[in-house]
Amino acid sequence: MKIKSKRNAKIVATIGPASNSREEIRSLIKAGMNVARLNFSHGTHSEHKKTLELIREESKALNAHIAVMQDLCGPKIRITELEAGEIELIDGSKIDIKYSQDSKDKGDLKSLYISVFDPTKVIKEGEKILLADGRITLIAQETTENFVSCKVVAGGALRSKAGISLPESELDLPSLTEKDKEDIKWGMTNDIDYVALSFVGSLEDLTLTRDEMSKYGTPLPLIAKIERAKALDNLSSIIKNSDAVMVARGDLGVDLPLQKVPTAQRLVISTANFEGVPVITATQMLMSMVEEVRPTRAEVSDVVTAVRDGTDAVMLSEETAVGKHPSLAVSVLSDIVIEAELEISFESNTYNRNSDKASVSDATCFAACSAAEKINSVAILACTESGQTAKLMAKYRPEQPLYGATSQKKSLNRMALYWGVEPMFIKVDSDAGIALEIKEAMHAIRDQYGIKPGSRVVLTAGLRTKSTGSTNVMEIREIPRKA
Ligand code: PEP
Repeated sequence: MKIKSKRNAKIVATIGPASNSREEIRSLIKAGMNVARLNFSHGTHSEHKKTLELIREESKALNAHIAVMQDLCGPKIRITELEAGEIELIDGSKIDIKYSQDSKDKGDLKSLYISVFDPTKVIKEGEKILLADGRITLIAQETTENFVSCKVVAGGALRSKAGISLPESELDLPSLTEKDKEDIKWGMTNDIDYVALSFVGSLEDLTLTRDEMSKYGTPLPLIAKIERAKALDNLSSIIKNSDAVMVARGDLGVDLPLQKVPTAQRLVISTANFEGVPVITATQMLMSMVEEVRPTRAEVSDVVTAVRDGTDAVMLSEETAVGKHPSLAVSVLSDIVIEAELEISFESNTYNRNSDKASVSDATCFAACSAAEKINSVAILACTESGQTAKLMAKYRPEQPLYGATSQKKSLNRMALYWGVEPMFIKVDSDAGIALEIKEAMHAIRDQYGIKPGSRVVLTAGLRTKSTGSTNVMEIREIPRKA
């Protein structure tokens, strides 16, 4: 028998060298990972392919629906590989930044390399250079024909391929790079569930990405990563046109003064909640667990704040990709989220009730959540083809367990990201009709999840009529006895 998770907000875990083995992937799924993130800033296509296959195999073996997110690198400037893998930059020391496209040029304590553009053409004397999400600061002291000589003003540990930001330099790279285009082709041909676009600045970036995807078939759901100050200026149009968004606090905290990040986080979450667009809060949520077995009090508070702010999902990066305790980090995160959610209620979540007034589907979903609350039904059952109804329902944060019943394999994985939604497979032809669809869904929650015959369930489904949209039926039914 399957057991629906007590947790509503979902967990995105980044897969990396610490977690790309079969055993670790299995442990991550058992610990509560809902979405596996493949970070295309690192790794080759064949490495990602191997990881993807393991995720699919282990999800199947554990009967879990796990979404796979392909996170595109975007125009993030990174240093190239370091000779030693990791170095310690000492305050007051000197280091040069050079341009090289030769992979044999590896960085060390004397030189760092960038391959995307020539730093000597961009960085001017006196400008600030931030490394590793702003943890390390350099100041350019001299720009020559072959290198930019810098002083380390705030040092620290630096890993191969760490990000490098130039907040004071004039540089405007396109959001979709040539590498991203190659990676999109890979994602489109490898059955990925979500594509995340880095450094989105405006709606145009999303359109260009969808155009690129449509060269290979129906575009995949697109997640806009909010990590530039410019994206905040265009927030409403970006969110309205995204399938989900991510508060990518790492780069956002480099583009904005750090003290402005929490306010930006709340703004992104509340705008996304209003539109019913899933939002992921990312980066440094349990950073100390890269090394330690327990998070800091401040990290716990940070997760609780994100959940109370209304995030649909929380994300781990280094914690699961390169940390010492990947699955422990997921289970600790899961426990914190469950505790934080004790403060979330359907009744207190009122401010988005007037959004999308004209939609019949939206009205039907709201009616279902209200009815479920009134009769305290044992479950809410969204019969859905694409998963859209389950997403709409999640917007209202119902307190009753929410099941998204579908016969579409793709939709099962996509629903793994939606707040509170338990994706549930029903075996029914897509043209079987509403009566059969509902019957199968009612049997499925009884037979797969052990919901007792006679219990009351609120369900929604769609009678396909032209004028009322796809979800237009709400009913309260009792779970039937087994024949
Ligand atoms: C971030 O910047 O917070 C983020 C999630 O993006 P990346 O890890 O790709 O830099």
